[in-house]
Amino acid sequence: MCGQLWERDYMASLFNDTQDFIQQYRQGCESYYARSFEDLTDTQRLYVLSALIAKKAKALQADQDPQQKEVFYFSLEFLTGPLLDNYLLNFGIRDLVENGCKELGVDLDDLIKLEVDPGLGNGGLGRLAACFMDSCAALGIAGNGCGMRYHYGLFRQAIKDGRQVELMDNWLEHGFPWETRCIAESVIVQFGGQVVRHEENGRFWFTQEGGDLVRAVPYDVPLVGFGGKTVNNLRLWSAEPAEENFNLAAFNNGNYAEAMRFRSDVEAISQILYPNDSGEHGRLLRLKQEYLFVCAGLHSILRGFEKKHGCDWDKLSDFVAIHTNDTHPALCGPELMRILVDEKNVEFDCAFEIVRNTLSYTNHTVMPEALECWPISLFRSLLPRTYMFIEEIDRRFHDTFPRDKHNWHDLLSQTAMLWDGCVRMASVSVIFSHSVNGVSELHTQILKDTTLHGFYELYPDRFNNKTNGISHRRFLGNANPAYSALITKTIGNGWLSDASELAKLSVYENDPSFLEDFEAAKLNDKQRLARYIKEQTGVSLDPHMIFDVQVKRFHAYKRQLLNVLKIMDVYNRLLDGKGFTMHPTAFIFSGKAAQSYVFAKEVIRLINSVADVINNDERVNQIIKVAFVPNFAVSNAQLIYPAAEISEQISWAGSEASGTSNMKLMMNGAWTLGTYDGANIEIAKRVGDSNIKIFGLREQDVVNLRQPGAYWAWDMYNNDRIRLGRIIDQLTDGTLNRLSGGFESIRDELLTNNDHDLVLADFYAYVQAWEELTRSYTNRHVWNHGAVHNSACSGYFTSDRTIREYANDIWHISC
Ligand SMILES: *Cc1c(COP(=O)(O)O)cnc(C)c1O
Repeated sequence: MCGQLWERDYMASLFNDTQDFIQQYRQGCESYYARSFEDLTDTQRLYVLSALIAKKAKALQADQDPQQKEVFYFSLEFLTGPLLDNYLLNFGIRDLVENGCKELGVDLDDLIKLEVDPGLGNGGLGRLAACFMDSCAALGIAGNGCGMRYHYGLFRQAIKDGRQVELMDNWLEHGFPWETRCIAESVIVQFGGQVVRHEENGRFWFTQEGGDLVRAVPYDVPLVGFGGKTVNNLRLWSAEPAEENFNLAAFNNGNYAEAMRFRSDVEAISQILYPNDSGEHGRLLRLKQEYLFVCAGLHSILRGFEKKHGCDWDKLSDFVAIHTNDTHPALCGPELMRILVDEKNVEFDCAFEIVRNTLSYTNHTVMPEALECWPISLFRSLLPRTYMFIEEIDRRFHDTFPRDKHNWHDLLSQTAMLWDGCVRMASVSVIFSHSVNGVSELHTQILKDTTLHGFYELYPDRFNNKTNGISHRRFLGNANPAYSALITKTIGNGWLSDASELAKLSVYENDPSFLEDFEAAKLNDKQRLARYIKEQTGVSLDPHMIFDVQVKRFHAYKRQLLNVLKIMDVYNRLLDGKGFTMHPTAFIFSGKAAQSYVFAKEVIRLINSVADVINNDERVNQIIKVAFVPNFAVSNAQLIYPAAEISEQISWAGSEASGTSNMKLMMNGAWTLGTYDGANIEIAKRVGDSNIKIFGLREQDVVNLRQPGAYWAWDMYNNDRIRLGRIIDQLTDGTLNRLSGGFESIRDELLTNNDHDLVLADFYAYVQAWEELTRSYTNRHVWNHGAVHNSACSGYFTSDRTIREYANDIWHISC
């Protein structure tokens, strides 16, 4: 559709021409399925096409400069989304492949729609990792991902009677054509057993004996950069029994059940992706996952280093940077020390120096309950030798702690790795790294002031900010063909490689013909989403309504509840007939709640119950509609972001570390309705006050309201029985009971639990801000001007910019 707009001079010549492509595609069908193209299902055709592109990509990996410093990005999640469309664009062969498919009698877009989302991540954190990999490759940085190959993703979400229902996400069912199993590069990983001390001629060393041996097998997925010049590698580890340790005795005795039990215990390690919400840690299997991918990943890096540079371990940080995404890979520090000391004969102090120079850490949350901790007893019995390195570094940390400060005892209790019977992973991450960063200016400030304040006093130079970014190629280029074609027609296609060129759009902010074209593209995207929503949910949305969107994981702090209380208020006021009018609006939600997160699941049920009442009430359903899109994932996110006109970013101030959907939505020309939180603040700074709607409590207000006795949610209820009180009553008075009953627990959260997330405290400011914003929608010039202005200012939020900052400031790679 966007046709030649994607052509580039340096287009990789993977295929000589369309005929060459067709011939290779046909050959692929024969070799994968021993059938001709015509005899394959579309799913099989997609598989062969993807495998063909993957093979081409892997061939390009071979010739990369061995002297280049490499980055290894350790993350337990990579939410890549579907890859084919993105890689065709990056290679500059989308047209050629589309034409070839047409000649073969199949529509490329139909194949692309069949690609499943790899079940490799939860949400923002995993998507950030995927955007970073895209940017590394686009910028020519040798940036490799290191992660886990989960057999099952989180879950597929369906909605029944308004409730979230969790179905198995068997994303590998039809195979994953992008991966290559590399059994020759397996790593044996040891769990449990005992540490034994050896001594000879005054020299001593340790070994870990016994326990279970697990084989970590890597699966490699190519990461294709824009322009097709750089292809990096995403290495995902899978757990299998090691022959060395497979229960052979049981097997030989014919006790297959016993032998297989061992197999499935081992395979369980890479079987499932854990939800990332609080309350989910402390599970042994999760710690096994964390250790397996760290241990295997490090061995694989050191093998590569040894091949290129020999055993000159002092030079490790000259050629290797290891970045840890949150604390999940925190074991990288102690484990790299263990390998250097035990397996490479490096002296203890040197090893610590090497490790610190090589490692860096990104923090993702300020919520104390979400900071990862493991009971020492469990940790030590699973990883006895690795634990000794934490213990020894912790001992030295205590010994050398600066006791001249008056508050030294507080500082020590905030920062020690071993405290209260637990291993504190954030402390491990900071102590073994040379750099600690937050993901927005506000978040980094909060880290310095509170969450990691002790460390900031000790090591101020380690702290820096790296405001998150997003792949503008995927989330504007791939996701929004209509708008990106208009952008390219207007300012050329340079914005694809250099997002700062989006600023050129500001010249057209007042150009009536451009604004008209923008509106047409937006309408096209809204129609496309309306079709999808009709198909998925049966709800019809009039594309001329305002599309007001909140799509993200369900979490109390993100306050989807605030949004739905607003919708109930609007509904009540429309029915009151006291002259309240508004532009017709569709409220669109999407997102999953963790299986065990009862409150978040109740909010989903509430939204669906409100939707049921409103959508079926003919008095209002031409004016408001509510839609819940099931199973939020990168694939349907790419349909939702382009169609949005209002971007709801309403977390309480100080809670959302950065947010990235706020960036994707502004880039696609949505207005932000948000709190002064995370990266919203930086969006506001760039677009200016008149092109964003900020409301509500500021971070300091929240801190003040959290002082004992400062806030009484019951007062909010008692002081306004007409509006707010009425809405709260409706939660339990039967108004919403038709689908699956009332909402006592939500009422309890708001009143009895004193409204921890300050939903009631921000209610009036929020509704008023929303009203003012939607009222301005009728002035089409002002609205479209602001929307385009948002796109024009969004270039800063490309992950290319973020990665350039990581490269220069943290990884010491110039680009
Ligand atoms: C961007 C993205 C997120 C993160 O959204 P936030 O609003 O920043 O929490 C989550 N899930 C998917 C699929 C995304 O693409």
